[in-house]
Amino acid sequence: MDILAVGTWGSGLEPDKRNTAFLVDGKTLLDCGPGTTEYLINSGIDISQIKRILVTHLHLDHAGGIPEFIWQRALHGICTDINITGPVEIVESMGNILRNYHTPAFMMNGITFNGSDPDLSIRPGKHTVEEYTYRISCSGKSVFYSGDTSYTEEAIENGRNCDLFIHEATYPDSMGKEANRYGHSTVSDAIRVFRASGSRIFMPTHMTRDSYNALLSIRDKNIVLPEEGKVYKI
Ligand SMILES: [Zn+2]
Repeated sequence: MDILAVGTWGSGLEPDKRNTAFLVDGKTLLDCGPGTTEYLINSGIDISQIKRILVTHLHLDHAGGIPEFIWQRALHGICTDINITGPVEIVESMGNILRNYHTPAFMMNGITFNGSDPDLSIRPGKHTVEEYTYRISCSGKSVFYSGDTSYTEEAIENGRNCDLFIHEATYPDSMGKEANRYGHSTVSDAIRVFRASGSRIFMPTHMTRDSYNALLSIRDKNIVLPEEGKVYKI
């Protein structure tokens, strides 16, 4: 399994940082915030190979790039099938946004919403809005991905014994109150969920400068700080 770290940052961007998104085996995009499509095209990635977008929830930094993706697919002459899966309201929400942008009907060719595949396990996360975590299993390997979530045993169960456990770590431990209030995890919350899951490698995402610095100071061979634009093999 090849996992490209497209973006690793939370909602507040900094220079050279992108909102959290990962591309699995060139085919499955995990979250699609603003700028995701632009990055994929700039990097020479063939977006016609992307067959599925798994959206954790409908906040801008996770789903705001979907209209751009749909437009660019069509404008590149791509009309193969693609499924966009996320919270139930994704159909209505994306429909409204695409209508507001006067999206030509032909751009929706091949697009379906809310599928389920045998390699996929979907379980709820714990955020301020409807939120899901995803586990993809393929050829004996598995990767878990959370969008925005507080500590939840659902993540432990969905990420049980994965090769790669990608989980948000938005806040440093000193900001536990904020993490709770806004439905996020501290660095320690994320590591606790990872350890309980029995997974092999923890990759934090949805980071902020403060959580990144806190993670930098942790020396653990099972914790890998992702670099945007780098491919990780599991
Ligand atoms: Zn977010």
